[in-house]
Amino acid sequence: MKKEYTNGDITVVWKPDVCQHSAICWKGLNDVFNPQARPWINVEGADSEAIIAQVEKCPSGALSWFRNGDEKPA
Ligand code: SF4
Repeated sequence: MKKEYTNGDITVVWKPDVCQHSAICWKGLNDVFNPQARPWINVEGADSEAIIAQVEKCPSGALSWFRNGDEKPA
């Protein structure tokens, strides 16, 4: 199961079964990734480039992203 969060420009994909709760995302960009909040990913919390940079630091592959209009990742 995966969840998708979009700001209209990009979409962040999160796979909870892959997430290792390493905390890297919410320590790095807490305005977007906040495990206390529901939904826990707020794609309005930073600009797309900052979100992409943080998503790409996810060590487990639980987070990925695509630009809206592009083909979705597998
Ligand atoms: S960085 Fe990736 S593995 Fe770590 S808590 Fe965030 S989504 Fe989960």
